Amino acid sequence: MAKQNSKKRCSKKVSADSMAPIYYRCRRNPTIKEKGEWWCWQHAPSVVEKRRDKRDAKWEVESKEQDLKWALQEKVERATDRVVSLCRDLVRNLDDKCPKDCISEGHELIRKELKKIDKANQGLERLHDKNP
Ligand SMILES: [Zn+2]
Repeated sequence: MAKQNSKKRCSKKVSADSMAPIYYRCRRNPTIKEKGEWWCWQHAPSVVEKRRDKRDAKWEVESKEQDLKWALQEKVERATDRVVSLCRDLVRNLDDKCPKDCISEGHELIRKELKKIDKANQGLERLHDKNP
């Protein structure tokens, strides 16, 4: 990198209109000499590269966070499915063993919640059949 004070223009060709392929020379004062050409503070290849590296690093962090989020969601879903399955076993067991006048609140509450899950799942299946 070297400094320059002449009236030259930055070497970067920029698009005049994002919809049309019309290019003109960047009008900024060139202040950095690289690869035998003069560039402004924004378009010097080393600056462009640094900006791209920074953006890539940010994307990498975001992508890792997204992967972690998906992994955690999957873990929660699997554990939830397991708990639901255990509750079904529990209710079946209680249905068999409880006396007719069972007063266990948990037994009835879990049974009601499982019915809600079944009903919601049936609704989801109907919607899925309509809109696969
Ligand atoms: Zn420029």
